[in-house]
Amino acid sequence: MTTGALIAEMAAVGLDVHGDRALAPLTTYGVGGNGACVVKVSSSEQVIAVSEVLRRHPGVETLVMGRGSNILIADQGFDGVVVVMSPSSGENAVTVDGDIVEAGGAMLMPVLARRSVGAGRGGLEWCVGIPGTVGGAVRMNAGGHGADMASSVVDATVLSLGSGQLMRVSAEQLGFYFRGSALSSNHVVLTVRMRTAVQEAASGTAEINAVVGWRREHQPGGRNAGSVFVNPGAGDESAGALIDASGLRGFTIGAVSVSEKHANFIQAGEGSTAADIAAVMAHVQSTVDRVHGIRIYSEVCLVGFSADLMTRFSHPSHSSARHVAAKEHLQSLLGDNV
Ligand SMILES: Cc1cc2nc3c(=O)[nH]c(=O)nc-3n(C[C@H](O)[C@H](O)[C@H](O)COP(=O)(O)OP(=O)(O)OC[C@H]3O[C@@H](n4cnc5c(N)ncnc54)[C@H](O)[C@@H]3O)c2cc1C
Repeated sequence: MTTGALIAEMAAVGLDVHGDRALAPLTTYGVGGNGACVVKVSSSEQVIAVSEVLRRHPGVETLVMGRGSNILIADQGFDGVVVVMSPSSGENAVTVDGDIVEAGGAMLMPVLARRSVGAGRGGLEWCVGIPGTVGGAVRMNAGGHGADMASSVVDATVLSLGSGQLMRVSAEQLGFYFRGSALSSNHVVLTVRMRTAVQEAASGTAEINAVVGWRREHQPGGRNAGSVFVNPGAGDESAGALIDASGLRGFTIGAVSVSEKHANFIQAGEGSTAADIAAVMAHVQSTVDRVHGIRIYSEVCLVGFSADLMTRFSHPSHSSARHVAAKEHLQSLLGDNV
């Protein structure tokens, strides 16, 4: 990659860009190597400026980062351009238009939940439990407490970093499935519109408090990326229960352990490495397979690891004909070369 030229061109248009920057502090695991080119953006205009530079350098790999709460970056880092979505004060406000609540892609999900309740809108209270951004939640179809993004998203404004095309993409075109969507690594969610219902602020606040209380009671604190493995099958079986029944609670490599509190969480202690987290994941996956005859796959996005390791943990549904077709359709809508 022509890192020097990229950095110079981005700096020339006033972007906050750095070469060889640590990515670990940008993730909740707090591990992993450096990004070759890391650009922090706090407005749609800045994301568009990044895409204008990238279009002069076709083929450069990109990674969009929100809060890094669902990403494991390899110790070797990422040899491409990392676009870090940073919430500006303007993007911390929601806009309400009838039933529709609109939020910026960099807004944190707990802020979305609280602002929506404050505006007398209901349906997004569950978002308070997701420690990531709205854009990351759309890409992952994040969910919990009986809801997910697919159940409320109407559409999203998406920019392709590759083609520079910006368009409003409908929920159907976003191709949501369990913990995934048709979005690709060069797509940036800039804004999202969600359908909500009228609600008394007091009952919304009570619901938010219930979600926060449930999380405190059932999930560990510290450094983790939430549930590591997707529930197998149609989602009716719990990956955490399978891991627990395989006797893996507390299993440790280096400073990395399967959580004692929630068996589908992997905790990264002081001095952890991404390699140790991946090794714990591999051990958990093969043990569950051996004990239960069920293969479980990663919910966490792996970045910068070997192709073999990525394939090992990648859910087969990602490469199903239906999801590949939805992905290609969205790429063609956004002017990417498919
Ligand atoms: C304690 C804890 C609890 C959690 N609980 C849940 C839960 O209950 N349910 C659940 O679904 N998840 C949960 N998660 C995982 C995580 O919070 C969600 O997946 C969240 O939506 C990720 O958002 P993020 O901004 O951190 O995304 P990141 O981790 O930064 O990125 C995740 C993916 O989204 C992409 N991305 C990020 N921002 C954008 C954007 N603006 N446009 C396009 N693509 C983007 C990235 O490229 C990457 O592919 C939990 C995590 C933690 C640490």
